[in-house]
Formats: sequence, structure tokens, C-alpha cells
Amino acid sequence: MSAPTQPHGIGTCTRCGLCQQACPTYRDWRLEADSPRGRVQIIERIASGERPDAVMAEHLYACLGCRACETACPSGVPYGDLLEYGRHEVERAGMLAPERSGWRAFRDFAFQRVLPSRAMFSLMMTPAKVLRRLPTLARLLRSLPLSGGAQRALSMASVDTPAGRGRLSAFSPAVGERRARVAVFTGCVMDALFGGVNEALVRVLRASGCDVAVPPGQWCCGALNVHAGERQHAVEMARSNIEVFERADVEAIIVDSAGCGAHMKSYGRLFGNEPAFAERSAAFAAKSVDATEYLAKIGVAITRRPSARRVTYQDACHLAHGQKISQAPRALLRAMPGVEFVELRDSDRCCGAAGVYSLTHPKMSQHVLDEKVAKIAETGADTVAVTNPGCYLQLAPELAARGIRVRHVVELIDEATSLVPRDGLELALAAPRASGLCR
Ligand code: SF4
Ligand code: SF4
Repeated sequence: MSAPTQPHGIGTCTRCGLCQQACPTYRDWRLEADSPRGRVQIIERIASGERPDAVMAEHLYACLGCRACETACPSGVPYGDLLEYGRHEVERAGMLAPERSGWRAFRDFAFQRVLPSRAMFSLMMTPAKVLRRLPTLARLLRSLPLSGGAQRALSMASVDTPAGRGRLSAFSPAVGERRARVAVFTGCVMDALFGGVNEALVRVLRASGCDVAVPPGQWCCGALNVHAGERQHAVEMARSNIEVFERADVEAIIVDSAGCGAHMKSYGRLFGNEPAFAERSAAFAAKSVDATEYLAKIGVAITRRPSARRVTYQDACHLAHGQKISQAPRALLRAMPGVEFVELRDSDRCCGAAGVYSLTHPKMSQHVLDEKVAKIAETGADTVAVTNPGCYLQLAPELAARGIRVRHVVELIDEATSLVPRDGLELALAAPRASGLCR
């Protein structure tokens, strides 16, 4: 397994502590080692040559990876990169607490066998597809005395997600005047459980004047792997995607999963040891754009009233903190006729999904989720708009019991737009055609 180059942020933390209150684990546990500053110190010790032990590993894995500390930090410490580096070194050293042996087995299976393979991933998604059709079975299983992680997995697997109707066409032409040629990144979880969102994205892009390619051969971006310290397969998945999208020859690669987008935009850091691939990974990263960022930039014809009435918005950590995008989704939601947009208190705080965190640390995940659900209930919204599949799966079961729906922002935009020629439609948002994204 190749070692990552030492991340550039080592040594930039000034120990000011301004990140502490942004951190969910520090707010709850009040332990320095479970704060961003404490974790940065652990990572710096590893970078200086100290062999990570099980206690250091535990503190690094107790982190949600939400990157709220990165937004709070005045010194620009790239916490996300440092965490990936630290976890990778922990994995290389094989140092985990004995009670985490189950995690080791899960990790090896999920990150080395399942996520790199479309066939294996589809097979593993079968129980989720069955449970969605058999809610009585799901309820029965949930009544069993299962561990917190298993309960959480079951709860997420039972969510009735907007599945698609089938494979997307490799090419769909723009409706009306052609303004750009783009590609859609379909992902793994998005492809398996949220195909309806990917289909909605293609419709909205076409209605906005884009020729849309969905290149065959693309697959999982590798974000879950790299966040868990598994780099070998993550690098291979990134390499494969870069090659696939190079052949597609598009101006932009549109992604509707915030976690995938944040990772794709930083593919370059995976190839620090491969100068020959650095330029290609940088070109891929530069073309990668979040769906809301792209649509707000090119202008989308929002003319119809969607099914939601009172909508609030939950910032995905990897959109707000990882990509610094918070205004674009709000602008799109505010532009919808007949929709009352209400702000959510502390909307940029993590919902507790955090990749596989809700499975590995169910207690903290549930605590964070309970806080989030209470704040959503305060808004009186009938709908919570999200931009990440993890947030959707985490929030939906809790909110369904309160009669609140979770929808992807792209689903709502799709309901509010019309697949007819652009001419004659009123543009709800300005369309800066000189943006370089859509000419
Ligand atoms: S990423 Fe989130 S959980 Fe981890 S240290 Fe930063 S604020 Fe805390
Ligand atoms: S990570 Fe940033 S905010 Fe936190 S202690 Fe270090 S310099 Fe200060």
C-alpha cells in the first residue's frame, strides 16, 4: 500500500482553540483529545514519526469528519486532509482497540471488496431494496435486540428512497438552445438508492440547455474509502473515473452528492506520488461541480410550484464545510414559487450520518441526530431539503414519524421546472454565461 505524501497542513495549527465549540464530540464530551485541536496534535505526533497506538486511533475514529472545525479555523488548517492522513497511518500500523476487531473485518470487506465493485455493491444493496418493499418485515427486524449499529443500518436500509426507473441514457440532448455539454456523475449509493435524483438532475440540466452525458464505466468516487484511511482502492477508483470522464470530453462534471463532490474536487491529493497523473487529476477536479452550484450559476428556469410548501434546508457538511457552498441551494429553494423558505437553526451542524459513523458510533450519531431533529421540528417545515444521500438516510426515519418529508434539492428543482424549450420561460436566477462553466 502506498504511503500518502505528508499533508501540507502539518504545523499550521496555532492551538488557539477557536475550533473547539464547532466540534460535536468536544461539545458533548469536553475532552481535549476529542476536539479538533487535540486531534490535530495526535496527527502531528504521527507525522513526526510516532507510531499510532490504539488510544490515538480511537480519538481519530471518534471524529465525525464533519469539517465544521475547518470552517471555524482562522489559520486555514486543512483538517479533512490531516484526518485522512492520520487514519491512513493508523490503518498502516494496524493499531485499533481490541473491541474494534469487528470494525477491521467490516472495513476490509466493505472498502476492499464491496465499494470497488459495482456487482458486489448491487448485491449488498438487495436487502435494502427488499426491506423498502416489505415495511412489516423491517418493523419486525427492528424489534429484535440488535446492537445500536445494526439498528441504525436497518433503519437506514428501510428508507423509501427515490429509486430510479432504470439505467440512464449515455447521452441526452439539451432542450432548446444548447449552452453546454456536461456529464453527470452517478455514484454508488446515489445510483443504487437515489436513481430518481440522478434522473431528475438529467432532466433539469437538459431543460437548462445542457447536452448531458452519463459516461458508462464510471463508478464510486472512493470517498468512503479514503475517509476511513483506505487509500489503495480509493486511488484505483479515482484513476478509473478520471479516465472514463476524460473520454467523455465535457465542460463540467455535475455531481448531486455533496460527499462525492468534495472528494472529487480534491482528487489531486491522491496522486502526490505520481507526477504523471497529477495534471489529469487536477483537470478532473477542476471540472467537478456540485449540482446546486452549477444550476445556480447557469440559471435554471424555475416556474412551477413544487409539492413542498414550507421548506427548510440542512447543510451537508461536505457541501458547506468541504466545498464552502451554502448560498446556491438556498437561492434555488427561495426562487420556487409558492414555497416558504425557513432557515434551520445551526443548519451547518452535522446530522450524525457522517459516512459510516452512524454504524460505528451509533450512540454519538443518535445524540447529534436528536439535536438536529428537534431544531428541524422548531421550523414548522413540511419538507427538509438535503444534498447528500447520507443526510437523507439519517434524517428520513426520524422525521417521517413527525410527518416531515426529506427531499433532495434536485428533486424539488425538477418539480419546479419544465422539460420544454427555454425560449419563453422566465429565468428565476441570473445566468452569468461568462462563468466559464456554461457557454
Ligand atoms: S471534523 Fe467535526 S467531529 Fe471531527 S474534529 Fe472537526 S468538528 Fe470535530
Ligand atoms: S485547528 Fe485552527 S482553530 Fe483549531 S486550534 Fe488549531 S489553529 Fe486554532
